[in-house]
Amino acid sequence: MGKCMIIGCGGVASVAIHKCCQNSDVFEGIMIASRTKSKCDALKEKLQPTTKTVIETAQVNADNVEELIALIESYKPDVVLNLALPYQDLTIMDACLATKTHYVDTANYEPLDTAKFEYKWQWAYREKFEKAGITALLGSGFDPGVTGVFSAYAMKHEFDEINYIDILDCNGGDHGYPFATNFNPEINIREVSAKGSYIEDGKWVETEPMEIKRVYNFKGVGEKDMYLLHHEELESLALNIKGIKRIRFFMTFGQSYLTHLKCLENVGMTSIEPIMYEGKEIVPLQFLKAVLPDPASLGPRTVGKTNIGCIFRGKKDGKDKNYYLYNICDHQECYKEVGSQAISYTTGVPAMIGAMMIMTGTWKKAGVYNIEEFDPDPFMEALNKWGLPWEEDFDPVLVD
Ligand code: NDP
Repeated sequence: MGKCMIIGCGGVASVAIHKCCQNSDVFEGIMIASRTKSKCDALKEKLQPTTKTVIETAQVNADNVEELIALIESYKPDVVLNLALPYQDLTIMDACLATKTHYVDTANYEPLDTAKFEYKWQWAYREKFEKAGITALLGSGFDPGVTGVFSAYAMKHEFDEINYIDILDCNGGDHGYPFATNFNPEINIREVSAKGSYIEDGKWVETEPMEIKRVYNFKGVGEKDMYLLHHEELESLALNIKGIKRIRFFMTFGQSYLTHLKCLENVGMTSIEPIMYEGKEIVPLQFLKAVLPDPASLGPRTVGKTNIGCIFRGKKDGKDKNYYLYNICDHQECYKEVGSQAISYTTGVPAMIGAMMIMTGTWKKAGVYNIEEFDPDPFMEALNKWGLPWEEDFDPVLVD
């Protein structure tokens, strides 16, 4: 069918690459291009004997638009799948524009110096992508990603209007370390130490970090504390889903994680303000990342399950209706299949599916779109096929 260039070769990319290689009919060729080429080569060595997908590798600095353009021009992919960090979104979008190549990512752009999660920078590319006749699919991970597809599916099949969405992200996994993050620590800590917020009646309501706590009993996991966080998909879903009055995002955290985080915050280790250390400028959060366990190393040690999904409340045929769509994923099963834990798995699988939707022309419209703006049905089908089957509950316990 075609060729895909995958930028980045970390936790999420590794899963997406495994999945592309299982799907050789669509992904005839992939190029793994990242900052550290040895990681790309190691993955190629492991996977090439197992797949018909032809794997190539390259070194690239994705902060450099010219380098990206040269690489895209030499490989001529149908789609660029950006699985580097959110800081590279705009340079990669610029390179896609210059080469008229479709673009897919899993996280919205963030400037390095402020932890701000907003789509405005990427939405500003709408007209340029439309004129170039190419698609940018934003947020094709789990959350954002599957949560948006779930919302579009609920809207299409179950509701006339959706008034309330609560996105619940539960990780019931245990890696046995007192403190570690399940994906890139810098991105993770920036996310959880930011102020919380949700949208009510069209306006953002801000909370202190971790101010709002609820307890929820998750199927497959059990009872967990969860906290209201700001999350990027709230912004696009509030615009794209009809009838939204309130939309919130909750994530579970264990007490040990929170105690360590508080302590690290109190001593200044989570700051993104550069400081001088022995004549060299360092960013405390980047230094902290260097001393924490590499998320990729958590795979073999993590046991338990994740349960991520959305509870919808709205109206169907004039009557009130509640509906919960979720996926349960087992850390050890993911590890056995692709050598990664469930957090990378639940993001890498939808990333591959998003690229597939664009490559096969199943999703085809020029411009910059969030995932819920496409027909959810083929994506929902692909989730069942490629390892993230979903379940539904028509009488869920609600979050107050
Ligand atoms: P990792 O840190 O494991 O991987 C990032 C990769 O990008 C690394 O291989 C890194 O290279 C590479 N990279 C970083 N900077 C550059 C650069 N300038 N040029 C080229 N390559 C670069 O992160 P994750 O895999 O955990 O996360 C990947 C993305 O997925 C992030 O944007 C994250 O926010 C997103 N994500 C989305 C989720 C969702 O549900 N939507 C959930 C989890 C993550 P090197 O190997 O040299 O460090």
